Amino acid sequence: MKHAHKKTAVNGQPLRPESLMMSYGFAPEWSENAIKPPIFQTSTFVFRTAEEGKAFFELAYGLRQADPAEEMGLIYSRLNNPSLEILEDRLTLWEGAEAAATFASGMAAITTTLLALLSPGDVVLHSEPVYGGTDFFLKNILPRFGITAVGFLPTATPAEIAAKAAAVEGRLAMIYVETPANPTNHLIDLDACVALARGHSAADKAVRVVVDNTFLGPVFQQPLRHGADLCVYSATKFLGGHSDLIAGAVVGSKTLLKEVKAMRTFMGTMCDPNTGWMLMRSLETLKLRMERAAQSAAVVADWLREHPLCTRTYYLGHLADGSAQADIYRRHCLSPGSMISFDIRGGEAEAFGFLNALQLVKLAVSLGGTESLAEHPATMTHSDIAPPLQREMGITEQMIRLSIGVEDPQDLIADLTQAFAAVSAPARELYVA
Ligand code: PLP
Repeated sequence: MKHAHKKTAVNGQPLRPESLMMSYGFAPEWSENAIKPPIFQTSTFVFRTAEEGKAFFELAYGLRQADPAEEMGLIYSRLNNPSLEILEDRLTLWEGAEAAATFASGMAAITTTLLALLSPGDVVLHSEPVYGGTDFFLKNILPRFGITAVGFLPTATPAEIAAKAAAVEGRLAMIYVETPANPTNHLIDLDACVALARGHSAADKAVRVVVDNTFLGPVFQQPLRHGADLCVYSATKFLGGHSDLIAGAVVGSKTLLKEVKAMRTFMGTMCDPNTGWMLMRSLETLKLRMERAAQSAAVVADWLREHPLCTRTYYLGHLADGSAQADIYRRHCLSPGSMISFDIRGGEAEAFGFLNALQLVKLAVSLGGTESLAEHPATMTHSDIAPPLQREMGITEQMIRLSIGVEDPQDLIADLTQAFAAVSAPARELYVA
């Protein structure tokens, strides 16, 4: 299994990731000519000789440099497993990354990466809002290890962000951004973040740019191509895509992935082989699913914008021409994707009335699956953030977040129509007024 099957061109034609997702990194002759890789449901691997075991461990623990033709051998599934290695090879293709690592969850990917790259005395400058779990880890767990998190709000200009970076007490070690932000779809200027990080890097220690690319990546946004160091993913979302698994991923340079994988080995936060196999299956339809969901989302978002009980949409296809956000979109994004938030006329009661009335769209957190989901960020995914700070981040009490799936958009609109109609009388009166 060691010598992976990695052909990336046919007749001189470089193959696109969606064409390679069914074959890259696996040769059927390795497994009885099975067209699909088997699930390597094993905890450990047999060494042919004691000498081989010793050689594998020397490489795993960095006790010596690998010979030019030598690849890391299989030891134990907390360190490496063929199901995960094939998956990780495929994950690099979308973004042209050197390496990838898969994890037990998106939070496992994020926390392992932060702990691998940060040390006591370091400061992380981060965008706000970020996913609630990330927010908690940055603000409540990292300080216990002497690491400080400094947030910047969506309203901050690049100059204000640069001023925050210049004013940090301690050593700026990382700029961590979630873009588009969950749940506001606010975009962060990655080019500006990369320039800022380079400006603060010293010869002995670089400032890293880490991007949570869960909402649009890897198909519609590729931060590594803008100079970001690492992308982190909740693979539970679009990569998995069927709301049937929890997993995470990190992609980037070989050097950084080596540090992240070393931390993964000691924390035991790796993905399991069965989940890895499911993810591999999902990758075969990733582009299809994301494109189809984005098409449906465009139809639904345009319809929502015209609805009298919708006061505002937060959707990347609705950015004002000439705005700073539209400029970032043009530079970074290949599609608006399929996440839409909107404000319903009224407040929490009207939002709840709408959510309780949905029939086809399911009332559930998470996103990026084949089925459409709806939730109320202020009291669900982002409830851990104090309401005044939520408002500063742009999360309103009347905001509903939709993750559009692959259903027919007209069926979704039929469901949204009846849910609006069922919204409590006060909201309708407000509208009439
Ligand atoms: N990042 C983003 C943007 C998310 O939306 C989520 C989960 O909702 C996570 C990270 C955490 O991922 P997981 O739930 O797979 O741990």
